[in-house]
Amino acid sequence: MTDAAADGRDHAGALDADAFARLARDRGPALFRIANAVVRNPADAEDVVQEAFLRAWRSRDRFRGEGSPDAWLGRIVHNVAVERIRGSREVPVAEVEERWRDDAYTVEAERVVERAATVEELEDALIHVPADPRAAMLLHDVEGLPIAEVARVQGITEDAAKLRLRRGRMALVTALGREDEVFRAMEGVPLRCWDARRFVSEYIDGGLPPETRGALERHLATCPTCPPLYASLVGVRTALGRLRDSDRVVPAELAARLAALHPGAQADPGLSRS
Ligand SMILES: [Zn+2]
Repeated sequence: MTDAAADGRDHAGALDADAFARLARDRGPALFRIANAVVRNPADAEDVVQEAFLRAWRSRDRFRGEGSPDAWLGRIVHNVAVERIRGSREVPVAEVEERWRDDAYTVEAERVVERAATVEELEDALIHVPADPRAAMLLHDVEGLPIAEVARVQGITEDAAKLRLRRGRMALVTALGREDEVFRAMEGVPLRCWDARRFVSEYIDGGLPPETRGALERHLATCPTCPPLYASLVGVRTALGRLRDSDRVVPAELAARLAALHPGAQADPGLSRS
């Protein structure tokens, strides 16, 4: 453990107002990017960060130095953001997986990728993806966070984060392909389609062991239904990458507002040094 005075914790390990001010100043822009990746709107993202700082300040006594204050705050920002994006139009994960478990299920890849290339259609389809898998996918495929970082922000294991990412991508392809689902007959294809489809998400990220990769590639070479799904997953991921802001630097004015978020100072001016 580091020196308590150096990282702004009191004797019990709780964070003080100065530590909050430092976190707001140093980590505001990174926290904003997490929020913005999930809520997809800068004004909402700013609200999310502000709300997260207030919540963190109110529950600062519960922070007892497990992990870094930075990771703790990142999780709070993520949780506030995910609460905002939950909606009634989400298609349950079980419903999406039921389709993907059907060997005969596939989509028209060209139509899916074409729709994904239209920002409005892509954003509209995202609404159908359940909030937690959606956030995992947006943080990884749009914001570019590595899986380990997604897991840290979501407060789950890396395997659980990979599962969410896979479910998010499947749900997004299904939402984009809803109008032109195709069912084709199967004959003499090695490996069950569900096994192939489960592996495809990691295959895209280059995370499969060679044996599994070989089996998957042999499956894709002969299966009539999986290649369009695979092409759609790759195309949709590319389209998500284009949602990334061309200018990824948080504007100076916004950075200043984020740095001014001293919940400690707001709640008790006497504690602030500013
Ligand atoms: Zn297949």
